[in-house]
Amino acid sequence: MSNGAEPQRTEPAPWFADGLRFECTQCGNCCTGPPGYVWFTKDEGRAMAEELGLDIAEFQTRYARRAIGRWTLQERKTEHGYDCVFLDRTSKPGKALCGIYKARPQQCRTWPYWPEIVRSERAWNNTKRDTPCPGMDRGTLVSADEIRIIRDSSSEK
Ligand code: SF4
Repeated sequence: MSNGAEPQRTEPAPWFADGLRFECTQCGNCCTGPPGYVWFTKDEGRAMAEELGLDIAEFQTRYARRAIGRWTLQERKTEHGYDCVFLDRTSKPGKALCGIYKARPQQCRTWPYWPEIVRSERAWNNTKRDTPCPGMDRGTLVSADEIRIIRDSSSEK
């Protein structure tokens, strides 16, 4: 019997149907490496500025730059690579912390469940090896449904 509605399309079971584990070890590897971008929206910029007690104009001057028509955080060249300007390697010995953790942009919140990383098992394993991210495949199990939600919320980055 039909209710007259279009049949619902369900996404086929992904390769991560059993979920994927992730637990950050605070190594900082995902916040450094070759030059890159940490994109943020206007609202995220305001939130970071507020967290630092700055107005948005001062925040942009001190910590951000324009690239490809968008805002991204500045980087600092260090012995590790191009660190995010907010990566703090001194407060906790042996660890690399985010200096604006509570207000960090969506791009950072959704790592490593980015579309290009969870696209395939190979992409996931390559990212885990190349970053390298020791937090992938350890710790808390994140379900396939949660991964989809995180992945889809990160597609604006
Ligand atoms: S590379 Fe992985 S384990 Fe290291 S700081 Fe980033 S998310 Fe955490």
